[in-house]
Amino acid sequence: MEIDLKLNVSGATRYDKVSYPVHYGRLVQITTSGHCFQFNLNGEIKYLQGTGRNWPHPSEWLKRTAGNHWVYYDSDSYNQVFDYLGEYYLPYFMYPSNHLGRANPFLEASVQEALSAFRGLPGELRDALETDHWSAEEKAFLLKAIALDDRKLAERAAQLAALLKGSVNVLPPDSRHVDYDCIPLNIADGCLYHCSFCRVKSNQNFQVRSPGNILEQLLKIRDFYGPDLSNYNSLFLGRHDALNCGGEMIVWAALQAYELLDFKRSYLEESFLFLFGSVDSFLKSKDRLFESLNQLPYRTYLNLGLESADQETLDLLGKPLKVEKVEEAFLRLSEINRKYDRLEVTANFVIDLKLPTGHWEALSRLSQEFFPHYSDKGVIYLSPLNPVGRRELLTRFQQLKIKSRRPLYLYLLQRL
Ligand code: SF4
Repeated sequence: MEIDLKLNVSGATRYDKVSYPVHYGRLVQITTSGHCFQFNLNGEIKYLQGTGRNWPHPSEWLKRTAGNHWVYYDSDSYNQVFDYLGEYYLPYFMYPSNHLGRANPFLEASVQEALSAFRGLPGELRDALETDHWSAEEKAFLLKAIALDDRKLAERAAQLAALLKGSVNVLPPDSRHVDYDCIPLNIADGCLYHCSFCRVKSNQNFQVRSPGNILEQLLKIRDFYGPDLSNYNSLFLGRHDALNCGGEMIVWAALQAYELLDFKRSYLEESFLFLFGSVDSFLKSKDRLFESLNQLPYRTYLNLGLESADQETLDLLGKPLKVEKVEEAFLRLSEINRKYDRLEVTANFVIDLKLPTGHWEALSRLSQEFFPHYSDKGVIYLSPLNPVGRRELLTRFQQLKIKSRRPLYLYLLQRL
C-alpha cells in the first residue's frame, strides 16, 4: 500500500468556532489511498478521516480522545447545530450519552471501514518499513505508531484512569471552548448531594485529595502526556465539585499544574481552567476566592449544577436543595460574571418532558425575567435527561432560547 508520511503538520494554534474542519496542535500525518490518519506527538492516533467518495462528508471526521473514545464530528446543518450547542459540529459518541441527534454515524459502513483501516494500519506500516526508504526520524515515528495499536491505546487510557485514581466520566460543558482537550487533575472525590437522577456520580462522600497526591498525579500526568503535552493549554480540576476544596487548594493546584505541565510554552495560545461547583460550595465561597481565580494565568470557567428552580422537580430529581438557594446561586453567578473579566460562571439545568410544568416555568422565569438586561456571559446549559420526545424537547429549547437574556445551549454529556 502506498503511504505518504508528513512528520510536521501544523494545526491551528488557537481554539476557534469555525464552520470548516479544523485540527489543533502539531501533528504527524499518514495518508493512504482511502484514509487520512493524524497522530499526536506521541504517535497516538488523534484524527481520522475517509478520503473516498463513501465518506459521509468531506468536512466531517473522527477524533480519538485521551480516554480512548472515538467521537464523530457531524457538520449536519451548521447554523442549527450552532444554535443548539454554540459549536459548529455535532459530536456523536460510541458510549451512551444524552444525545438528541437523529442518526448514529458509527453505524455507517464508511466510518466502520475507517476504524478498521486504523486497526489494520500497524500491519501496513510494518510492510512499508521493510520495502520503502525512510529517514531515521520517519522510521522512529513509524515504529511508535506501529506499537500504539488498538490494544495498546486501550491500555494507555486505563493507565491514565489509574494514575488519576478515577476515570473522567464527564467534562464540564464549558470545555467545548477547547474542543474538550483538557488535561484532567483530580483534586477531590465524591460530591455533596448524591442526587438520585445523576448518572455520573460516584458513591463516595466529598473528600479533598492531599497535596502529595495532587503533586504525584501531576508528575505522572507529565510523563504520561510526554512530548504531546505541548499540544495542551487547558486543565480540568476534577471531579464533581472541585470548588468545594476552597480557594487556597484550587489556586495552588492550578498554579502547580501551570508550571509542571508547562502551559506557558504550549503550542496553543492562552490557557484555560475548568471546574465544577455545587450550589453550597458556590454560596459559601468568599469574594476573595473569585478574585484569586480571576488573577490566575488561566481564563477560568466554573460550571454549577443547579438542575432546577422548581421545588417539586428538585424533590423528584432527588437533589436535596431548596429552591431559594438555587435562585440565590443564580443571582450571585450573574454578579460574579459582571465583576470578573477572566472568570465565567455558568449554570446547568436538566430538561425532560416528564418534568413538572413548574420546572419549565422556572426555566423561563430564570432565563427571561430574572435579569433586566441581556449578557453574553453566564451561559445556561440545558442537559436532556433522556432523548424521548426529541422533537418536542428541541422545540421547547428553541422557545426558551429566543427569549433568553443569557446564552442558552444544550449540554451533551461528554467524557474525556
Ligand atoms: S448532580 Fe452533581 S451533586 Fe448531584 S450526584 Fe451528580 S455529581 Fe453529585
